[in-house]
Amino acid sequence: MLPPGRTIGIVGGGQLGRMSAIAAARLGYRAHILTEEAHGPAAQVSAGVTVGGYDDPEALRAFAAAVDVITFEFENVSAEGLDLLAGLRPVHPSPQILGISQDRLAEKTFLNAHGAATAPWAEVSDDASLDAAIARIGLPAILKTTRLGYDGRGQARVATRAEAVAAFARLEPKPLVLEGTVDFACEISVVVARGADGQMTSFDPVENQHAHGILDLTFAPARIPEETADRATALGRQVAEALGLVGLLAVEMFVDRDGSLRVNEIAPRPHNSGHWTIEACPVSQFEMHIRAVAGLPLPPAARHSDAVMKNLIGPDDVALWPEILATPGLIPHHYGKAEARPGRKMGHVTRLFPRGSLPGPFGIAAALGRLAPVEGCDLPDERP
Ligand code: AMP
Repeated sequence: MLPPGRTIGIVGGGQLGRMSAIAAARLGYRAHILTEEAHGPAAQVSAGVTVGGYDDPEALRAFAAAVDVITFEFENVSAEGLDLLAGLRPVHPSPQILGISQDRLAEKTFLNAHGAATAPWAEVSDDASLDAAIARIGLPAILKTTRLGYDGRGQARVATRAEAVAAFARLEPKPLVLEGTVDFACEISVVVARGADGQMTSFDPVENQHAHGILDLTFAPARIPEETADRATALGRQVAEALGLVGLLAVEMFVDRDGSLRVNEIAPRPHNSGHWTIEACPVSQFEMHIRAVAGLPLPPAARHSDAVMKNLIGPDDVALWPEILATPGLIPHHYGKAEARPGRKMGHVTRLFPRGSLPGPFGIAAALGRLAPVEGCDLPDERP
């Protein structure tokens, strides 16, 4: 157990680091951030900051020297950078797990090898493998970069061979992966924490709706049958166990129309779809993350309330901030980002409901006020 007063190093300076640092502070730890941005969301609330590139050996060494244990809110550190950090301090989750989550090919290969279904997929590295992939997967499909994609970036939906050829030429870095389009009933995610002793706990599966490739709304719990939720929880834990995780893992899944589950992506860090846990659970995903990394006990990831989380994206949502503050029941989170570029996650709001009372689309739209979709009631409610 890391004693209070010690320093937890967090690689990455965004909102996930900010909320992890706040959780660390509440447990008596100092958070120290490695970031390229001296005054970013995480640095603003942390005891220490190393400003430097994630692959700059000098910055990585200075960061490691300032901390007792290292974790991440940002996964895309090079293998050499990870090895350097791991040679200097304990790193949780391990560099191997980051390596798997950084690369869609490694991720899908790992998942399939450990009994987790994914969308059908094929590696695409040249014209011949593109044709072979189309022949095997069929169209329409989604062509994705295998590295560095996030929030719907680095991917293209393709309906014809010509579109696939054009997208192949455009998307970088290569290789790419062609994924069959899943006609899912809904998207869900499970956040699992696992300690060094193998102890595990997981938050209830939640349902995620995206807008323009970016998470828009999370409903907790997911509006799916209990049996499906139980299978999703078991699948999330199975993946965490297979990885030998120490830390936090989000497992994003598609629920097919027949109720079967396919893993879309894994992220070995706190996840946007877990922000609701700050208010709706005695121990949030951020505290669970810090507990797992610091070797503290992991209490049950229980939920005392149901919740809806709405992301605040770009200048339009930020413009509603005064109104959000004036709306009873909306719990505001501002990430302290100076500039509200379109598509940028600027904050989120959470609305709690008594456990078991998550309303339908009309009630949710009413509760979110101006943040709900324009018509106020066009939240889909078709569920498997
Ligand atoms: P990703 O960056 O892979 O998480 O994809 C972002 C979003 O695109 C997902 O949350 C889905 O809404 C959608 N998506 C990604 N892959 C597929 C797929 N194979 N079939 C259908 N929708 C997908």
